[in-house]
Amino acid sequence: MQDKQTLTLSPSSINTLQSCLRKGQFEKVRGFRGSKSSAMEGGDLYHKLLESYYSGIISKRSDNITSSINDGRAHSISLNLDPKEVERCIKVFRDYCLFYANETWIPLAVEKPFTSEEPIHETENFLFYLEFRTDLLFQDRDSISACDHKSKGKKSYPNPLQNQYLATCYGLGINTLVENVLYTQETMDGSKLTHPDRFPRRIFTYTDEQLEEWRQDIVYLCDSYEKAFTTNFYPRNLTSCDKYGGCQFSSVCSALPEVRDYILSRDFKKSEGFDIFKK
Ligand code: SF4
Repeated sequence: MQDKQTLTLSPSSINTLQSCLRKGQFEKVRGFRGSKSSAMEGGDLYHKLLESYYSGIISKRSDNITSSINDGRAHSISLNLDPKEVERCIKVFRDYCLFYANETWIPLAVEKPFTSEEPIHETENFLFYLEFRTDLLFQDRDSISACDHKSKGKKSYPNPLQNQYLATCYGLGINTLVENVLYTQETMDGSKLTHPDRFPRRIFTYTDEQLEEWRQDIVYLCDSYEKAFTTNFYPRNLTSCDKYGGCQFSSVCSALPEVRDYILSRDFKKSEGFDIFKK
C-alpha cells in the first residue's frame, strides 16, 4: 500500500481552505501567489518590533527599546514600505512600550513554533498535522497564556471565532489567548485616541468543549479536502470572491476554463519547492 502524504495545516491554510477549496488549490496546492499589500508589510514590521522587544525582555537586554527599533529598521529594508510608514510604525511601537512599561506579564517564549506530534486527522490519502507559531507565550500570576499581536488601521471588534486563536489553544492545551491590539492611527471617529484606546488587550477564553467543536470543524475540512483531491474537483465558493477587498484569483475564476492556466502563469508568481500547506 502507498504511504500517505503528510500535510501540515496552518491557521492560514485552514482559513483559505474554509473560505474556498478552489482558492486553496490555486494558492496552497499549486503555489500561485500575488504580492503582499503594504498593510500586510506594515503588520510584518510591528511583529518584528514586538518579537525583538519581548525577546529582549527574556534575555534581559539593557537597551531593549533602542535595540528593538534597530532590529525593526534592519527588517524594514526587506519590506515594500515607504520610509515615512516605517517611522510611523516605530512611533506607535515606542508609545506601546511606554504604555506597557510596568506590565505584569512575564514573557516565556517568542515566535514559538508548534507542530502536533500526532495527526489531527487521517484520511485515505493524507495525514493532517497542525502547525502554527505563537507570537508570545507569557505568565501572568499563576496562569500561562498565549498572545497574538494585531496591528489595525481601523476600528475592530473582539472576535473569538478565529482559527488562529482556537488552533493555538487546542494545540498548546491552554484555554486563554490575549489579542494584543495596536491601533496604528491616533484618531478614530473624529476623536483623538487615548493610549488605553490605542493598545487594548482582548482576552478570549475557550472551554474544552469549544476546542473540541473546533477540532470537529477541522476533521470535516480534511474530509472535504480528501474528496476534492480524489475527484480532482475543488469547488468554488462564490460568496468568498468579494471578501477582504476581493480574491486575488477573481480574474482567473471569471475567465473561461480553457484560459485559466494561462492567466495563472502570466499574472501570478509560482513558489518553487512550496510546502503546500505552510504559510
Ligand atoms: S475568485 Fe472566488 S471562487 Fe475563485 S478562488 Fe477566489 S474565492 Fe474562490
